[in-house]
Amino acid sequence: MIQNIGIVGSGQMGAGIAHVAALADRNIILLDVNQAALNKALEVIERNIKRQVSRGKLEDDAGERALKRITITTDYSDFNVADLVIEAATENEATKRKIFETLVPNLSKEALIASNTSSISITRLAATTDRPGKFIGMHFFNPVPIMQLVELIRGIATEDATFIEIKNLSLELGKIVAEAQDYPGFIVNRILVPMLNEAVYALYEGVGTVESIDNGLRLGANHPMGPLQLIDFIGLDTCLSVMQVLQEGLGDPKYRPCPLLIKYVEAGWLGRKSGRGFYDYSTDEPVPTR
Ligand code: NAD
Repeated sequence: MIQNIGIVGSGQMGAGIAHVAALADRNIILLDVNQAALNKALEVIERNIKRQVSRGKLEDDAGERALKRITITTDYSDFNVADLVIEAATENEATKRKIFETLVPNLSKEALIASNTSSISITRLAATTDRPGKFIGMHFFNPVPIMQLVELIRGIATEDATFIEIKNLSLELGKIVAEAQDYPGFIVNRILVPMLNEAVYALYEGVGTVESIDNGLRLGANHPMGPLQLIDFIGLDTCLSVMQVLQEGLGDPKYRPCPLLIKYVEAGWLGRKSGRGFYDYSTDEPVPTR
């Protein structure tokens, strides 16, 4: 039984995973390099849990109990009680490798490791640890409390017992599981992110404005959100990184990231999380930037 869950990275995804797992009666140890990100994560989780309570989706005391199950830390030695650690730090392979290097000596022998990476090879990440058989891809979607899917990705060495334990946990978190093989982007991002990149090309080439591209796909293809809205939501840096992994891993030029996407990331316009992406979020209603 997985009772104590460590999470590395307390950004959008780490906070969401902590929220959902705490509501499923798990004890959460949330770690980040950045104390401000940890404090923000606690605020976000508390606000979202209170919203669920006020909407009648959650009992008040269940919300309170879940919040008490989450502790924050910057110290990996707090993971010595973890049955599972889910890595949800920035989408950068060098960063993740360093994290696993620091993490492994602080874990019990039995502990499982999962990565929430959107696209990096699970087999390669697993090989940086002492336990590739106990390593798996556990890919949640944003916002975690709302999105139903978890993609589970087996690395070449992932043992069946690991897969079964993580599948059972995912079901107990209320998620639906899609099993994917370990190829760049797995299933969802292999298909979704090139479409989002194409929307940025349409903007870059002046085929349409932000508004017309988003309205086009919302109203013409019945997408719940326009592609540029969705990129802002996911994070431009994350989308760029997924495109780079697809380009490198699959070698087809059709996966080249749009230069405009690269420029926005260079400018620090990362979407909602930085206050500006293809929309400006400094006012109540997001304003298109092009
Ligand atoms: P984010 O930018 O919101 O958060 C990343 C967090 O990682 C930050 O708080 C940062 O301080 C922390 N971090 C960076 N380096 C670290 C280190 N060395 N040790 C500990 N913490 C560190 O990003 P996010 O959207 O939460 O994405 C996190 C992961 O989840 C990425 O791998 C991403 O690909 C994946 N993911 C993202 C989405 C999405 O829609 N945003 C969906 C599924 C998966």
